[in-house]
Amino acid sequence: MAIDFTLAPEHEEIRLRVREFVRDTIIPAVEPFGEDRHGAVRDEYLRVIIGLRGKARELGLWLPHMPEEWGGMGLGHVALAMVQSEAAKTRLGPWILNCAAPDEGNMHTLLHWGTDEQKDKYLRPLLAGTVMSCFAMTEPEVAGSDPTLIRTHAVKDGDEWVINGHKWFISNARRAGFAILMARTETDVAEGTRGATTAFLVDLPQRGWDDVREVETMHGSTGHSEIVITDLRLPDGQILGGRGNGHRLGQYRLGPARLAHCMRWISQAETALDMMVDRALKRYSHGSLLADKQGVQWLIADSAMELYQCKLMVLHAASKIDKGEDFRTEVSMAKHFVAGSLNRIVDRAIQVHGALGYSTDTPLASMFQHARWARFADGADEIHQMRIAERTIAAYRATGSTSAATGGLPL
Ligand SMILES: Cc1cc2nc3c(=O)[nH]c(=O)nc-3n(C[C@H](O)[C@H](O)[C@H](O)COP(=O)(O)OP(=O)(O)OC[C@H]3O[C@@H](n4cnc5c(N)ncnc54)[C@H](O)[C@@H]3O)c2cc1C
Repeated sequence: MAIDFTLAPEHEEIRLRVREFVRDTIIPAVEPFGEDRHGAVRDEYLRVIIGLRGKARELGLWLPHMPEEWGGMGLGHVALAMVQSEAAKTRLGPWILNCAAPDEGNMHTLLHWGTDEQKDKYLRPLLAGTVMSCFAMTEPEVAGSDPTLIRTHAVKDGDEWVINGHKWFISNARRAGFAILMARTETDVAEGTRGATTAFLVDLPQRGWDDVREVETMHGSTGHSEIVITDLRLPDGQILGGRGNGHRLGQYRLGPARLAHCMRWISQAETALDMMVDRALKRYSHGSLLADKQGVQWLIADSAMELYQCKLMVLHAASKIDKGEDFRTEVSMAKHFVAGSLNRIVDRAIQVHGALGYSTDTPLASMFQHARWARFADGADEIHQMRIAERTIAAYRATGSTSAATGGLPL
């Protein structure tokens, strides 16, 4: 039997080093700044967090998701799960280790799809942490859930492409040195089918790329831009991954990136559960602690069971990626389940904290606001359910059993 959930000693050692670095260095350095950072405070904040990135590099806790020959830690996805979740104990942790979205997904994409020249120009500085990037796919006018509907279009004019369109919710756009932009290039491919879009590398800032606003969201206006693209001109060499391959490239990017989100969400859910139990052990009402009330114990038990399921699903999906097996169903299931669990667990933690949970005196309110987008970004719940159902039905049709669609486990 090869089922063993213990980490190799060298991975356990890395996990503990990340935990210590987050707990003893990142959190004490970043938390005093709070959420309100303007003017000189912002400058000082930037100096501190860039310094922390330097420290992460010195400690060898840099690019856990990248191969060693590209300056990374060369971890597989199972080992990465524990690094990502340790790092995500504080929101900035993954960024300090240079494994945060959207850069992390863009690195995988460039590594897999980029030409040597593109890797030199775009991937290397991203890995070095000297530039950041963004990924521009979603548009306000059409359902982001169906990227075959993209309307931003690129038309060939001599040696150049002329691009016009409209994007929004482009994370990191204002800080990015370049974008991976999805545009429709093939007019003979019908709307709703794949093969119509192409990915382009866009240096930023760029004439024709107008960052018109940062969209105000439930969690503030924190870096998700609306972009108007007008007559942006790019040469052929800026195509990433070949003409008409935009959809495939997007799907390739999203698989592991979705699971990396889950790894980080697990950490947030665990923090919420820790806080729930801590509060239940301290708050006294109607003759006993909240921890002694069956109603509160159910909230704790449901959360513990869900978190356990989340961890197993993420580890199993990660092990499938590591083994080169088809991981799409497992990643879809994990993405759907972990996003929902995160929302439910943070909500229960707020419930147990009462008014304190609703206040901004604890991180729970902010965690709740951030958790909400997990259920529709990078594949809405219903899209994952649709794909999971399709594969379950297909497995039954092919084999007379749904077993292959429930993890392919020997049970
Ligand atoms: C914080 C945040 C950061 C983001 N960052 C980026 C980024 O960096 N780059 C980028 O390109 N995009 C980004 N996005 C956009 C995100 O990817 C989209 O929100 C997502 O793809 C859903 O698209 P939509 O918002 O257009 O919703 P729609 O596609 O309009 O879907 C709305 C709802 O309709 C339902 N629905 C849609 N299709 C179906 C279906 N086939 N069956 C059943 N129900 C369906 C679902 O309930 C879904 O939630 C970000 C979004 C957020 C909130």
